[in-house]
Amino acid sequence: MRKMIIAGNWKMNKTISESIELAKSIKTSSNIDVIIAPTFTSLKSVSETINNNGIIVSAQNIHPKDSGAYTGEISPLMIKDAGCKTVILGHSERREYFNESNQLINEKIKKTLNYDINVILCVGENLDQRKTEKTNEILSEQLELGLSNINDLSKITIAYEPVWAIGTGEVASPEQAQETHSFIRNKIKSMYDEETSNKIRILYGGSMKPDNAEGLLNQQDIDGGLIGGASLNPEAFNKIISLAEKISQ
Ligand code: PEP
Repeated sequence: MRKMIIAGNWKMNKTISESIELAKSIKTSSNIDVIIAPTFTSLKSVSETINNNGIIVSAQNIHPKDSGAYTGEISPLMIKDAGCKTVILGHSERREYFNESNQLINEKIKKTLNYDINVILCVGENLDQRKTEKTNEILSEQLELGLSNINDLSKITIAYEPVWAIGTGEVASPEQAQETHSFIRNKIKSMYDEETSNKIRILYGGSMKPDNAEGLLNQQDIDGGLIGGASLNPEAFNKIISLAEKISQ
């Protein structure tokens, strides 16, 4: 059975002291993986606050070079040094606002894996692509190019995040999400093998909240959630953790 993940993407929110406070209020879990992704400036303080209590600290991005003249950028070594075990890559906001291509995301993934850091690779179609029935085509392209020349997926989790559902309050129905997750799992099977596709964890992301999480998390191919807005509210985030724990029993 795949262990569920509940991951909170804090995006560009919270000062260091606010991040410490929020991290302290997140529930730990023994039967699911709980991940939180603060901003770069808060990573070290949050890692120290958590102090190996089981919650995993993630970054939200990296630059795909070890070091050098890349003003304003942060390398995988630096996030590791700050206590990160994971990084979110290919988030739709990075693709849209910072023009990140599948090729760049692939470079970032390869570099991250060199440092033995886990990756949450985000994929997903926008509204126009869904309406014109291009969802599967877009996902195939994002997976093929994003995972190009990566043979071992043991450190990779995929997050399916329909762009039209991120931060909009609009959520994919459990059936809609399950259908797409199943497509992604089959795609991984065709790119790798059955064992890999059975092992890889696929999270749903897009306006997941305590009142819609159960239906989504109960789906066969949904192995957890990547949560933006609701992860800033400890009560809501902890409720989603509890629901995932209940489903995992
Ligand atoms: C996200 O940013 O990954 C996300 C899913 O955001 P929200 O939960 O706010 O839609």
